[in-house]
Amino acid sequence: KPKEYSFMVRSRVPGGKVTPEQFLAHLDICEEFANGTLRVTDRQAFQLHGVLKTDLKSAIRGINESKLSTIAACGDVCRNFMCCPAPQKNNPVHDQMQKLADAMADHFRPKSLAYYEIWLKDGENSELVHQVVDEPIYGKTYLPRKFKMGVTLPEDNCIDVYTQDLGLIAVVEGDTIVGYNMVVGGGMGMTPAKKDTFPAVGKRMTYVTPEQVIPVAEAVVKVQRDFGNRADRKHARMKYLIAEWGLPKFKAKVEEYYGAALPEPHPTDVTNVDDHIGWHEQGDGKLFLGINIENGRLKDEGPLQLKAAFRELLAKFPFPLRLTALQGIILCDVEPKDKPEIESILRKHGVKLAHELTLIRRYSIACPALPTCGLAVTESERVLPAIMDELEATLDQYGLKEDRIAVHMTGCPNGCARPYTPDIGLVGKARGKYTLYLGGNAEGTRLGFIFQDMVPEQGISTILSPIFAQYRDQRQDGESFGDFCHRVGKDSLARAEAVAAT
Ligand code: SF4
Repeated sequence: KPKEYSFMVRSRVPGGKVTPEQFLAHLDICEEFANGTLRVTDRQAFQLHGVLKTDLKSAIRGINESKLSTIAACGDVCRNFMCCPAPQKNNPVHDQMQKLADAMADHFRPKSLAYYEIWLKDGENSELVHQVVDEPIYGKTYLPRKFKMGVTLPEDNCIDVYTQDLGLIAVVEGDTIVGYNMVVGGGMGMTPAKKDTFPAVGKRMTYVTPEQVIPVAEAVVKVQRDFGNRADRKHARMKYLIAEWGLPKFKAKVEEYYGAALPEPHPTDVTNVDDHIGWHEQGDGKLFLGINIENGRLKDEGPLQLKAAFRELLAKFPFPLRLTALQGIILCDVEPKDKPEIESILRKHGVKLAHELTLIRRYSIACPALPTCGLAVTESERVLPAIMDELEATLDQYGLKEDRIAVHMTGCPNGCARPYTPDIGLVGKARGKYTLYLGGNAEGTRLGFIFQDMVPEQGISTILSPIFAQYRDQRQDGESFGDFCHRVGKDSLARAEAVAAT
């Protein structure tokens, strides 16, 4: 029997905005052409896993027929543009930010017709064959590596702005965004065998007015296009160019490309984060409901029938939806009178509401890892729920169950679930073993430090237990777990002797 090849297919969903028809189309496509599950990614996109090569074209055509696309969802271009998905209808700031997200996604979309020629037309008969289209931003060679972007509000960094190649932090006066701080050079991936690779949080480069955002962002992308490392893919992200040059030289080159000097950043910075789970006023008399999807995986399994729940909900109430960067789903435009029926449909399918979930579970995310990611060295998504059970029990022991602690887990150091910035990061190092990072925070404003390497999966809560006890006893007023670990420092955190590194 010939070998069968399977693929991951990612749909690009700028700002996470999805119509009910697109959502249902993706559920159909995952059942017809993938492994029967649909994944909400931590970059507000959809992923299909297990698409056989023979079904690839049909799956991509189906996605395009739903008026979403896979273009620029992968590849060495500007990827899915992230934006806070909360539908705050009476808040012009949200509206302004979401319009910018759409404009940025459109501006940085590759202009080549090759995508349509390859996936949507019929090969040699296509009228698109041989049409050459200029790529005004990417040129003939595109970028050295993927490029990630997003925009956030200071009080709600739900898109992890500091982990983006280019992040924008809105500066708000009254009910208007007067400008943005531009942060450059974030990026999570690293290769342990290459000591000169590292995760990085972005550096605050400048302040731009709303009119300047796109031209200055384009200058940044072009500097990376022209000077990023094309000889070594492990060093090709923009963070390495900035590390090599230093921020002043990088900024000077951006100014040269932009054609004018750029000011220092505004003092505004990230102060908080919100996962948008639960019921919220939308500001126009309607409500929105954020639903936590554990590790973003929509499937029907045992008592938890997530796909069936969304099918029934959307058949009755065709709500617009939004995907969150913590792998959740928001139902928008809910009439208050429909709240009981919606809750009843969710309950019937085993879906938990906000008050039934701990914050540690709501703020946990995982990458897919085994069995669908070819780069995985160990498990992530499939083991995190059990680790969460243990961590919840341990936190309960110390009266900390209500604490907001963010846990991000990945099956390898590439860091797709941004594991280097939350309170607790778990990074797959070898089969069943993880590097444990502490000292980041839920707001995602700094990197954690390695607390212990080669931690066995079963030893994670044992290692964290004495640190939770220390946190309970020694924390300052309002101090989060990550801030506590950062203040106390690696060498002063309690050690569980029983679980030595193996
Ligand atoms: Fe795959 Fe590694 Fe990314 Fe997880 S972090 S999805 S294992 S590449």
